[in-house]
Amino acid sequence: MKKIEKLDLRVLGNGTHRFDYELDTEFFGEMQKEIENLDESQRISAAKVKASAVVNITEQFATATYSVEGFVSVPCDRCLAPTEVKVKAQDEETAEGDTLDLGWLIYEQVMLSIPMTHMHQDGDCNPEMMEKLNKLLRDNN
Ligand SMILES: [Zn+2]
Repeated sequence: MKKIEKLDLRVLGNGTHRFDYELDTEFFGEMQKEIENLDESQRISAAKVKASAVVNITEQFATATYSVEGFVSVPCDRCLAPTEVKVKAQDEETAEGDTLDLGWLIYEQVMLSIPMTHMHQDGDCNPEMMEKLNKLLRDNN
């Protein structure tokens, strides 16, 4: 899937609205294309994340409760080859104004639930990448 369109709360109208998405690699690629100076350690090279949101709109305000669960691949801290990490989180946001950018909320939720350090299990790093990195380190000393 590509983008999640911004929700127009006036068009949706009062009531409870449910949205379900299957976020794939393309979705994250599109989102990250728009980020200037993306931290390369956060670049997602593969993804399979289920996201759902319940948007509750009343006369006074609109809130979105959303959750994400699945896997994304980010560069390993040690060998830089993709490593898969589990993401699972839930949050709630109150809309300001007439639109709600559900795509960004969900994207940020996934990114926040990626552990600060992410690497392969000991011994599972990509041997070719390790070899190259070790060579670089040697050459620089
Ligand atoms: Zn690794």
